Amino acid sequence: MPRPFTTEDYTARLARATAEASAAGLAGLVIAPGPDLAYLCGYTPTAITERLTALVLTAGREPALVVPKLERPDAEKAAGTPALRLLDWTDGEDQYAAVTPLLDPAGRYGVSDNAWAMHLLGLQAALPGVGFTSLTETLPMLRAVKDVEELERLAAAGGAADAAYRGILEVEFAGRRETDVAADLGALLIQYGHSQVDFTVVGSGPNGADPHHEADERVIRPGDTVVLDFGGLKDGYGSDTTRTVHVSPDVPAEVQRVHDVVRLAQQTAFEAVRPGVGCQEIDRIARRVITEAGYGEYFIHRTGHGIGLTTHEPPYLVEGEERPLVPGMCFSIEPGIYLPGRFGVRIEDIVTVTATGGRRLNNTPHELAVVS
Ligand code: ZN
Ligand code: ZN
Ligand code: ZN
Repeated sequence: MPRPFTTEDYTARLARATAEASAAGLAGLVIAPGPDLAYLCGYTPTAITERLTALVLTAGREPALVVPKLERPDAEKAAGTPALRLLDWTDGEDQYAAVTPLLDPAGRYGVSDNAWAMHLLGLQAALPGVGFTSLTETLPMLRAVKDVEELERLAAAGGAADAAYRGILEVEFAGRRETDVAADLGALLIQYGHSQVDFTVVGSGPNGADPHHEADERVIRPGDTVVLDFGGLKDGYGSDTTRTVHVSPDVPAEVQRVHDVVRLAQQTAFEAVRPGVGCQEIDRIARRVITEAGYGEYFIHRTGHGIGLTTHEPPYLVEGEERPLVPGMCFSIEPGIYLPGRFGVRIEDIVTVTATGGRRLNNTPHELAVVS
C-alpha cells in the first residue's frame, strides 16, 4: 500500500493551486466534487448530487469547503479538511448563499470542468459580476505534474494493467463474444488490485477500426486482429494501456506491416520525450512515422492524454497544444491506424517525463501477440 496523503500534502497543494490561480490572473478557484476536489483536499463525497459542495480558494483567504450539513461528518474525515475552513448549509436554505460571501463579487474564478451546470448557473445568478472560466482553459497543469507518491501509484496501476494483459493472452478468443473477453479483462484488472474498471475495449476485426468501440456481441473469429484497450483506477490513480493481438499465428502481411508502423510510431514518439519538448511535438512525431508509411489519413485519434486521478485529463498530446513537457508529467502515447471496415491497430503505454527523457509505466512487449 502506498503512503496515504497527509494534511501537509493537501496544505501544500491548496497553497500551490491558489498561487497558480493568482498567476493566471484569477481571483481564485471554485472546485467541484471529483478529481480536483480529491486532489486538493482528499474529499470524495459518496454521491455527487444536486446538493452543492464547493471548495473556494481565494488568494489571501483561508480555503473554505462548503458542504451540505448532512454530509459534514463525511467531509470532516478527509485528510485535507484540517487545512480548510469547513462551512455547511442545511436543506431548505439557499445553497448558493453559503458560497457567495466567499467570492470576490467582481472576480474571475477558475471552475472545475466537471462542476454541474446547475450549480455554476446558480452562482452566476447570485453574483452576476463574477466571471467563471474552466480549469482546462486556465490551469490545465494544476494536476499534470505528479509528485513521487503519485508516480508510485501510477506505476503500480500500470503494473497491474500489465499483469491483466499477460492474463488475457491466456484466455480463448476464437468463438467467444467481445463482451466475454471484455469481462475477462475487467476481472483481471480487479484481480490485480484495481478498485474501478473504466473501460475494456475489445475491438475485433472491423470493430477495431473504431478507436472508441467498447465491446459488443460480435463473435471473435480465427484470423481477427483485436485491439485491447483497458484501464481503471488503482489506489485512486489511473491505468490505460492498449495492445493489439491476432487470433491465429497466420498473420496477413498487411496486418503485420500496419502493426510494425504503429509500433515504430509509438517507439519514435517515446524516444522524443524529454523536458521542454512541446506536447504537440510528440503528436507530430508519431504522425510523421505513420504518414510516411502511407497511413496518415487513418490515424484519426490524437496521440495521447494526461492521466492521474482520472484516466483522461489535460494536457493532451495533440496539434495546437504547445505546452512543454515537464518532469513528473504522465500521459499516454497511443498512435493507431484504423482501416474502416477491416481492422485497427493501436499500441498505448503510459509514459512519465524524467529529467533526461521518458520512462514507461507499461512494460509488456509491443510485438503482435498471437492468441488462440
Ligand atoms: Zn480515445
Ligand atoms: Zn487507452
Ligand atoms: Zn488512452
